[in-house]
Amino acid sequence: MKAIIVGGGIGGLAAAAGLHRKGWQVVVLERAAAFTEVGAGLAVQPNAVHALTALGIRLTEGLTDPPQGIRTSGGNWVIRNDSDLLSRRYGRWAMVHRATMIDLLRAELPPSSLRPGVAVRAVHPDGRVEHDGGVLTADLVVGADGVRSVTRASIFPEAAPPRYAGYATWRMIAPPHLLDPEDGSVETWGGGARFGYAPLPDGRVYCYAMIKAPEGAGGDLGYLRRIYGSWHEPIPSLLASVDPSGVLHHDTYELPDLPSYVAGKVALLGDAAHAMTPNLGQGACQALEDAVVLAGCTDLPAYDRLRRSRTQDVVRRSRQFGDLAHMSSAPLAAARNLGLRLLPTFTVARQMDPVLRWAP
Ligand SMILES: Cc1cc2nc3c(=O)[nH]c(=O)nc-3n(C[C@H](O)[C@H](O)[C@H](O)COP(=O)(O)OP(=O)(O)OC[C@H]3O[C@@H](n4cnc5c(N)ncnc54)[C@H](O)[C@@H]3O)c2cc1C
Repeated sequence: MKAIIVGGGIGGLAAAAGLHRKGWQVVVLERAAAFTEVGAGLAVQPNAVHALTALGIRLTEGLTDPPQGIRTSGGNWVIRNDSDLLSRRYGRWAMVHRATMIDLLRAELPPSSLRPGVAVRAVHPDGRVEHDGGVLTADLVVGADGVRSVTRASIFPEAAPPRYAGYATWRMIAPPHLLDPEDGSVETWGGGARFGYAPLPDGRVYCYAMIKAPEGAGGDLGYLRRIYGSWHEPIPSLLASVDPSGVLHHDTYELPDLPSYVAGKVALLGDAAHAMTPNLGQGACQALEDAVVLAGCTDLPAYDRLRRSRTQDVVRRSRQFGDLAHMSSAPLAAARNLGLRLLPTFTVARQMDPVLRWAP
């Protein structure tokens, strides 16, 4: 049985690895000239650690404690996670560089499966894939071609386009030795803006910023340094040491619910099926889950049944978490912070059950 995977990001490579493991002949068509990922970190949450294990991949680096919690821009804790409680409840977290994840997945595949520099133009439910050099056919076509998916547009031409979520994101890597050894990942909320940081296995620090803004509104590192200059340390120090040439800036989009993830011999996966806001750090984690389920169940209506309601629920939860985090009214934010501080640690931990408690 032959599968064509459109797109060689985390979702596409994971699907290819899973299908290859089950004996499928796989070909991954990737538009870019090389299989690689942007220079940023990736939170691999416990559900995704389980998914990787199911794909035969054991993370050897980057395994870490759960996030430490959420602080205000002045540095007070809004939520202080109980690390032992979270680890017992959900398992291990990991924080890796995105390129590391791509390398891990790629290593599961024979080099002959990987075809970079091939852009797909259209996909047909009968398994035909038109690309810029001709046409291929397969028993299964996996559309893993991201938020602007050509596969999705081919099989669901009526589907609503991704919608702007209301905030812009910046991702960057700060050099090593800027965090104390006991520092873990922390997110900080201020009026309409957030900042997060997490140590990477090599000591460098992955940082991200999210700011409420109209679509297309830009901002360089100087802009971020001005916005976050008065926030608690180490945020200003991290921003002061970031190399401006490595800063990634994107608007955030969410895909309205699709009526199905499958059509004929074609299945959608990852951002092509359910692009979500990055608020919960679950986009790639859900793509890894999709890949495991698809590889274990190539009956496509069953894949759709197993994945669509779960992922659309995570999309919704991620949006709601963003609404809570990005509150810009000071009195409402103060009430939110007070409410969250009063929640028992166990109640906070349980909130993530629907997302993190997943087993293949
Ligand atoms: C700021 C930010 C932070 C995030 N943090 C996290 C996090 O910590 N944890 C997490 O789990 N998720 C996170 N996410 C989400 C995560 O990045 C995405 O959900 C994930 O990368 C989606 O993977 P994918 O393989 O589905 O799509 P993509 O990564 O978009 O890959 C699609 C691939 O398809 C290729 N392609 C596109 N069109 C074609 C074509 N026509 N022909 C051939 N190839 C094509 C592209 O070149 C690309 O390589 C974050 C997202 C953002 C924006």
